[in-house]
Amino acid sequence: MNSLSVIVLIPLILSLGIMPSLQSEIIPNAEALKSQGNSLSETNSKKVCGDRLCSEIPDDKNEVKKPAVMTTVKKELFPSTMDYTVNAPEIDPEKGYAVIEIGDDLYWITDGTYQMMFLTTGEGVIVVDAPMGLGDKIQQAISDVTSEKVTHLIYTHIHKDHVGSASLFPNDTIYISHVDTAKHLAMKNDPQRPVPTITFDDQYTLMVGDQVLELYYFGPFHSKGDIVIYSPAHKVMMAVDLFHPNAAPFQYFGIARDMGEHIAAHDQILAMDWDIIISGHEPILGTPEHLKFNKEFTLQVLDNAIAAMQMTQPSADYFGDLANKCADLTLEQYPDLKDIEAYPVENCVTMVFYAMID
Ligand SMILES: [Zn+2]
Repeated sequence: MNSLSVIVLIPLILSLGIMPSLQSEIIPNAEALKSQGNSLSETNSKKVCGDRLCSEIPDDKNEVKKPAVMTTVKKELFPSTMDYTVNAPEIDPEKGYAVIEIGDDLYWITDGTYQMMFLTTGEGVIVVDAPMGLGDKIQQAISDVTSEKVTHLIYTHIHKDHVGSASLFPNDTIYISHVDTAKHLAMKNDPQRPVPTITFDDQYTLMVGDQVLELYYFGPFHSKGDIVIYSPAHKVMMAVDLFHPNAAPFQYFGIARDMGEHIAAHDQILAMDWDIIISGHEPILGTPEHLKFNKEFTLQVLDNAIAAMQMTQPSADYFGDLANKCADLTLEQYPDLKDIEAYPVENCVTMVFYAMID
C-alpha cells in the first residue's frame, strides 16, 4: 500500500468509525458480496439482493436482455477473427495502428494498447469511441477502407483517454451516450468531448443504413454512464474498461467506482449472445471465456481480501497489512497471469474496502 493510499484512506476509515479493533464485527458475508455479481453456477432463483432473493424484487436488471431488433441484412463475424482472440495483429509501424474488418462492414482499430470499432452502413460511418492517443489516425484508418463519412459517434463512457478525439469529426456528427455521460460532459465543457445530442437511460437501438446496434446501460461498472454496445448480427460486444482479456485488471480494478456494479456487469454481459468482445485495451480481442475468467479472478481476490481480514491482527498499518496479505495470496494463485505483478496491492485495496464497508 503506498503512502498516498494510506493518507487518503485512513481518514476515510476513521470518519466512518471503523477501527481495526472492530475487525471481528465487520468480517463480511462473502456470499452476499459476491451475489451482486452472482457466481456463474448460481441459478437466478437463488440470487441474493441485499436481504432478499433477487427473484422477489421487481427489477428489470435481473432480466436477460433480448435483442430489440434483428437486422434482415446478412452480417456476420468472420471465422478468422477468432485468431485475434489469441494472437495480436501486426501494427504497421509507419501508420501506428491496425484496422481490421472482423465481420461484414464492422472494423476494429487498435494501436496495440487501445481499441475502438466502427461500422460502415451505406449511409455513413458509426464510430464507437475515439481514444485520445489515436487522434487523427482514426480518420486515416476509416479512410483506408471506406469513402463514407462519419455520421455517428457513440461514447462508451466519460473518460478522455477513450473518447478524447471525439471532436475530430464533421460538425454535423451525431453524438450518442448514456444520459449520465452527457451530464458529465456538459459539466466539463471540454471541446475535445462534444456533448451528446442523443441520450438514453436503459436501452437504445441505433439503425443506420444496413447496420443495427443495441446500446444497454447495466449500471456504472467502471466510471459514469458506462454502456455496452452490441451488434446482434455479428454477435460482437463492446464494453470498455470492464476487464483486460487474458490479463490482470488495471489498478483498483480499472479504478472501478462501484465494485458491486462492476461484478454484476460480468453476469449481465455474459447472459447475452456474443462471440467477441472489444474491451478497449490489450492487443487482442476478448471472448466469453476471457470475461468468465475475469469474474472468477475478481471473486477470488474478494475471497483473498476476506481471508486477509480473518487472519490479520490490528496494527499501526492494519489496512496496509490487509492489502499486502491479500496481494500475496493473489500472486501465489495466479503466478503466470499477464500483468499480475503490476497492481496486486492496489486491486486488493479496492477489494478490502468493498468487503469491509460497501
Ligand atoms: Zn475508463
